Amino acid sequence: MAHSDPHASSGTSPPVPSRDPDALLFRGVGVGPSTAAVHAGEARQKPGFSITDPIFASSTYTFPDTRSIVEFIEEKQCREEYGRYGNPGERVVEEKLAALDGGEMAVLFATGMAALVGTLMAHLSAGEEVVFFDECYHRSREFCRRHLTRFGVGFREVKTGDYAAMEAAITPRTKFLVSESPTNPHLSIVDCAAFADLGRRHGVLTLIDATLCTPYNLRPLESGVDFVLHSATKYLGGHNDLLAGAVAGSRERLEPVRNLRGIMGGINSPHNAYLLERGLKTFALRMERHNSNGLTVARFLESHPRVERVFYPGLESHPYHAIAARTMCGYGGLVTFLLKDSDWQRTARVVDAVRIPRIGPSLGGVESLIEQPMVMSYWNYSPAERRSFGIPENMIRLALGIEDSADLVADLGQALDSTV
Ligand SMILES: *Cc1c(COP(=O)(O)O)cnc(C)c1O
Repeated sequence: MAHSDPHASSGTSPPVPSRDPDALLFRGVGVGPSTAAVHAGEARQKPGFSITDPIFASSTYTFPDTRSIVEFIEEKQCREEYGRYGNPGERVVEEKLAALDGGEMAVLFATGMAALVGTLMAHLSAGEEVVFFDECYHRSREFCRRHLTRFGVGFREVKTGDYAAMEAAITPRTKFLVSESPTNPHLSIVDCAAFADLGRRHGVLTLIDATLCTPYNLRPLESGVDFVLHSATKYLGGHNDLLAGAVAGSRERLEPVRNLRGIMGGINSPHNAYLLERGLKTFALRMERHNSNGLTVARFLESHPRVERVFYPGLESHPYHAIAARTMCGYGGLVTFLLKDSDWQRTARVVDAVRIPRIGPSLGGVESLIEQPMVMSYWNYSPAERRSFGIPENMIRLALGIEDSADLVADLGQALDSTV
C-alpha cells in the first residue's frame, strides 16, 4: 500500500517541502479519502511518542540564537514564528485538506466566510469584477454586493446553471467566476468541467464553494477549477462543535491568500485546529452515512402523499440528476422538500413535530437538523423577494446527520402523519 512508504510524494501534485525534513509527512497522494483523512499531514513519530498530535498552545515561537533567525528568514525555512502566521496543528489540517482535495496546498481560516473573503480580497483589485451563480450562499453574495463594491470591485449575478448567461456576463474586467455546488437549499449541481472551461477560455479565475459535496463526493480541482472552498464548520469538522473554513488549490494561487491571512488574522486557534483534525479522522465514514441517509430519506419523502416535491440530486426526478450521477460519488445529507397545500404555519407544524432532528441552521454534523428556510433565513424578506430566491412558505430543509436511517424515516413519517 502507498502509505507504507512514508516517502511517497510522487503523483499528480509536486511534493510539498516538509516543515521538518526529519519528520516525514505522509501526504496521502494516491490513497483513498479515508486513509488521507486519517494520516495525511501527520508526522510518523510525534513529540512524546504520542499517536495524536499535541496542541501547541503557544502564541509565539522561539529561536535558539540570532543566527537561527537569519537562517529562517533567508532560507525561508518551514517553522513557526508567530501565532497569527500559523500553528503546527493548523498545518496538519491544511495538509489533510490539500490531500483530500488533490490540491498542492490548502489554507485554513477561522470560518468559511473568512476563507471566502480572504481568497477574493487576495486576488481582486479595484476596477475588476466578480460574477456569481445566484444560488450561492447569501452571505457570500452580500459580501460582494455590499462590501467589495465599496472598494471599486464590480458584482454581477446570473441564473444558476446558465453557462451562456455567465459567459455573456464576462467582460475584460472580470476576474472571478464563483459558484457553489450543490447549492443550498435547492441542491442545484454545477458542471465543474464546463465552469472551469469557461474561466480558462476567458482567462478568469474560478472558485467553487464545495461545502455541501465535500472532497468525498466531488473534487472540483480535478476538473480544472482554480479554487475549492469549504466551510469546515459543516461536514469536515462534522460534530457541530467548531467553526472553520478552508480554500485549496495551487501553490501559486494560494500563497497570496496565505499572506493576506497573516495580515487579516482570521486564523484557527491551536485548540480549534485540533478539534478539526479529530473530526476529520472519521470524515469518510461519516460521509458514507450522510450519503446513504440522504438517499433513503429523499426516496421516502418522494413517496409520501403529503410531499409535493423533493430536491435531492440522487433522485431521478431532480433536474440536475444526470450531471450529479456522472460527476459525484454520493449526494450528501441535505434534503429539501415542499409540503402539499401548506402555508408557513402548517409547514411549521411538521418541523415542530419531529423528535430526532433538532430545529436549527447549519448542516454537516452528526446530529440531524431541520428548518424552514422562509423562517430561519428569509423572514425579513418580502414575498416577492422570497419568490425570486425560490423560497416558498412550504419548504423544509433537512440536514441529515448519521443517525440510523430507519429511525429518521419513522420520525419524519410520524411528523407528517400526525399533523395532517
Ligand atoms: C456555512 C456555509 C458557508 C459559511 O461558512 P461559515 O463557516 O459559517 O463561515 C459558506 N458556504 C456554504 C455553502 C455554507 O454552507
